[in-house]
Amino acid sequence: MDKAGRDVWVFGDYRNYFQNRVTLQLLARGRELAAALGGELCVLVLGHELGQWVEEYVAHGADRVLALDHPCLRAYQSETYTRLLVDLALARQPRVILVGATSFGRELAARAAKRLHTGLTADCVELAVNDQGLLVQTAPGFGGNLLAEIVIPRHFPQMATVRPGTFQELPHDYERQAPVEWLPLPAGLKPERVRLLKSERLPPREQALENAPVVVCGGRGMASKKKFRNLQELARLLGGQVAATRPAVYARWSEEGTLVGQAGRQIKPQVLFSFGVSGAIQHTAGISGAPFIVAVNKNPGAVMMQMADVGLVADANQTCLALIRELKKRLRS
Ligand SMILES: Cc1cc2nc3c(=O)[nH]c(=O)nc-3n(C[C@H](O)[C@H](O)[C@H](O)COP(=O)(O)OP(=O)(O)OC[C@H]3O[C@@H](n4cnc5c(N)ncnc54)[C@H](O)[C@@H]3O)c2cc1C
Repeated sequence: MDKAGRDVWVFGDYRNYFQNRVTLQLLARGRELAAALGGELCVLVLGHELGQWVEEYVAHGADRVLALDHPCLRAYQSETYTRLLVDLALARQPRVILVGATSFGRELAARAAKRLHTGLTADCVELAVNDQGLLVQTAPGFGGNLLAEIVIPRHFPQMATVRPGTFQELPHDYERQAPVEWLPLPAGLKPERVRLLKSERLPPREQALENAPVVVCGGRGMASKKKFRNLQELARLLGGQVAATRPAVYARWSEEGTLVGQAGRQIKPQVLFSFGVSGAIQHTAGISGAPFIVAVNKNPGAVMMQMADVGLVADANQTCLALIRELKKRLRS
C-alpha cells in the first residue's frame, strides 16, 4: 500500500440520465473499494454550474468532492479534461480512478491512463480489492465467453471503466455531509484543437417510451442490428415505440435510452411485444406495469414465455417480418 495513496476517485459525468446514473453506480461500488483500502471515496467533477451535482454525489456516498467549476468547462472537451484529470491525479495520487464507460468516458480514461503511464481495463463487470490492495478488475473477453480478472501490479492509479447499469446505486441520503473543494482553473490551459461549434440534445425518448400504448421490445435473440431494425418498422406500424434489453443496447442495436429494466426505464404499455428476451429479473423489473404481454421465443421454457399472456415458440425475426407483412397488407386494404 505504500506506492500510492488509498483514495478511490470517481469521475463525475453528469450530462444526462445515463452518464449521471453511471456515476452514482460507480459511487456505490467505490464506497466498498475505498473501505477495503482504508481511503476516501472522492468524486472529481469538471464543468459549469455544478452545485446540484455536487449535492447529488455527496447524497450518494462521496466522502469528498473535488469540483472545478468554470464557464470554459461547460462543454466536454477531451484535451482539457484529460489534462485536468491527469494533473490532479499526479498531484493527489489516488489509488484507483473509475470512469463510466460512456463514449466520452472511454475516450477520457484511455487518454488519461496513457499519460499517467498506467493500465486501464475497459468495461469491467466487477471490481474488488485483493490482499495486496490492488484493484481486481473483471472484464469480459472473447465476445463475452470468458471473464478475465485483471490486476495491474506495479502502476498507479489503477484505472477502470464500467458501463452504465453494471452496479446498483445507493439510495439518496440528503442528510449526508462531505467536504467540497472548489478548485481553481489552472493557468496556461492550451486551447482545444477541436472546437465545439454546436451541440443539440436529441428529443427525449423517455416520455415517448414510458407513455407509449404499444412497446416492441427486442433482446439478444434478435441476433443482429439489421434484424433489430425490423422491430422499429413493426413498432412504427403499430403506433408504438421500440425498447431493448441490456445485451441489445450493449451491442448497439438500440440506443441507450431504450433500455428497459432495473438500470433503464419502467414502462407500462397496454400491449408489450417481447422478441427474443429471456426475462431476467433485471429486465422484468421494468415491465411490471404492462397488463398484456406477447412473447416470441424459441425456448418455451424462457421466463418471459411464462410471464406472457400469449407465447409464440418461434424465431423472433421471422415472426416480426410476418407481422410486418400482415400489417402492411391490412393497411393497404
Ligand atoms: C446490475 C444489473 C443490472 C441490469 N439491468 C438490466 C436492465 O435494466 N435491463 C435489462 O434488460 N437487463 C439488465 N441486466 C442484464 C440482465 O441480467 C440480463 O442479462 C438481460 O436482461 C438478458 O437480456 P436478453 O433477454 O436480451 O438476453 P438473453 O438472456 O441472452 O436471452 C435471449 C433470449 O432470446 C431467445 N432466443 C435466441 N435466439 C432466438 C431466436 N432466433 N428467436 C427467438 N428467440 C430467440 C433465447 O431463448 C433467450 O431466451 C442487468 C444486469 C445486472 C447485473
